[in-house]
Amino acid sequence: MPDYSRIFIDGRWVAPDATTSAEVVNPATEEVIAHVPMGSSRDVDRAVAAARSAADGWARTPAKERAAALGRVAAGLQQRAEELAVLATDDVGTPIGLSRLAHAGLPLNNFAFAAQAVADSADAFEGIGNSRVVREPYGVVGAIAPWNYPMHQSTAKVAPALAAGNTVVLKPSEVAPLTIWALTEIIEAAGLPPGVFNLVSGDGPVVGQAIAAHPQVDLVSFTGSTAAGIKVSQAAAPTIKKVSLELGGKSPAIVLPGTDLSTTLSQVLQAAFVNSGQTCFALTRLLVHADEIDEAEELLAAEVAAMRLGDPREESTQYGPLASKAQRDRVTGYMRSAIDAGHRLLVGGPQRPAGPERGFYVQPTVFTRVPAQARITREEIFGPVLVVQIYRTFDEAVLLANDTSFGLAAGVWAPEQETALAVGRRVRAGQVQINGGGFNPNAPFGGYKQSGNGRENGRYGLEEFQEIKSFQL
Ligand code: NDP
Repeated sequence: MPDYSRIFIDGRWVAPDATTSAEVVNPATEEVIAHVPMGSSRDVDRAVAAARSAADGWARTPAKERAAALGRVAAGLQQRAEELAVLATDDVGTPIGLSRLAHAGLPLNNFAFAAQAVADSADAFEGIGNSRVVREPYGVVGAIAPWNYPMHQSTAKVAPALAAGNTVVLKPSEVAPLTIWALTEIIEAAGLPPGVFNLVSGDGPVVGQAIAAHPQVDLVSFTGSTAAGIKVSQAAAPTIKKVSLELGGKSPAIVLPGTDLSTTLSQVLQAAFVNSGQTCFALTRLLVHADEIDEAEELLAAEVAAMRLGDPREESTQYGPLASKAQRDRVTGYMRSAIDAGHRLLVGGPQRPAGPERGFYVQPTVFTRVPAQARITREEIFGPVLVVQIYRTFDEAVLLANDTSFGLAAGVWAPEQETALAVGRRVRAGQVQINGGGFNPNAPFGGYKQSGNGRENGRYGLEEFQEIKSFQL
């Protein structure tokens, strides 16, 4: 087991400057399973100094060598995949089947893809007239990651940033940080030069702000809430560094009339409640035609009532607990205020679900016929709460879908794929799932409007960490 009391700076596990630590709680058992240091701004200074000293050398390391190093990280992730999946399940509460895919599989893909992409584009340049356009690293990247998919969201920053030739200081969320110590061990074993990758734990207001504000950090890449994203941008502004934000969502699922409603709604529920709804691109607003609302409600109520909620280590579990007590309280608070406001509860509710006696479990919940102005229609809840809205025309469906400050994702279901694509083009969101199309980890991912800026994953994710220079010949 890693030594969680240390952080990783300049190629070594070192004692943090700070003397306080945060409890890490298993959300299914409510037991404290580890403590991690709450770092200080001095820890950030040390890590940034190490990253700065290593930046030139790493940038000048031939791309093929960088690719080989990242390939060794990918191999390490593969070797420890099952251990990582179990660790993430204990830390986040994700059912083990999903953990294998999301907390172990996606991070492996992130490193493998970045290694391949940088190897393929080693000496690439683009010619424009008498100019030669090349891509270069920014220098030092500060990466701030959340707790819902800690490994995927960290590696979606760290892998392309390193591949592009940047050095990195990573701050995970202290809510679910354990897999990040394992990731750091794997990076250490892969033999990257000292200072190329650094880990500093601690909370957002101290360590996150210090990274965002640091004059020696050239780019900050942040995933989390819109509120924290604003603070990161504000802290970064005086140094004009690039800020890449992947924020929240309130994404619509538009169901056009005439689909097989049973199949469609199963897919919508899966997209709404994945990782107990703690997913930034969860489709949490369902737009149903007025003619189909009665049938839709019947199907939703039956399917949600049958969901298998329980121990996330059990293979058959579909829905585990929320990641923390704070998140459980926040989500049930939203449910209570919706009931108090008179919104119609179709299934679920804020009471503790039957079954597990411990753990931060909440019932998968659906509110129906909810107006567009309702708080539960407008704010990101980040739990298993689906809001059903009614529309009468295509135009009204598009209008409702876009009636949000967010724009991360959407889904469109229609009897004809072309119709779904045409409606999808009118939705202001960075990713649109058509008739249940599966998540593609190498497709560009990111938000319109207040869901963020920039793109992660695949080639677009790599380019996010590259400056562009033109030579005039
Ligand atoms: P936050 O946005 O607060 O946390 C995300 C990351 O940002 C964490 O590492 C956090 O540190 C850090 N952070 C927090 N405040 C600052 C700051 N001022 N400067 C720099 N970094 C900061 O999310 P929460 O954990 O508080 O969750 C609250 C809500 O955010 C959720 O309910 C959900 O709505 C949304 N969210 C969205 C995510 C997404 O993927 N879009 C992911 C996570 C949350 P630390 O937690 O260690 O203090």
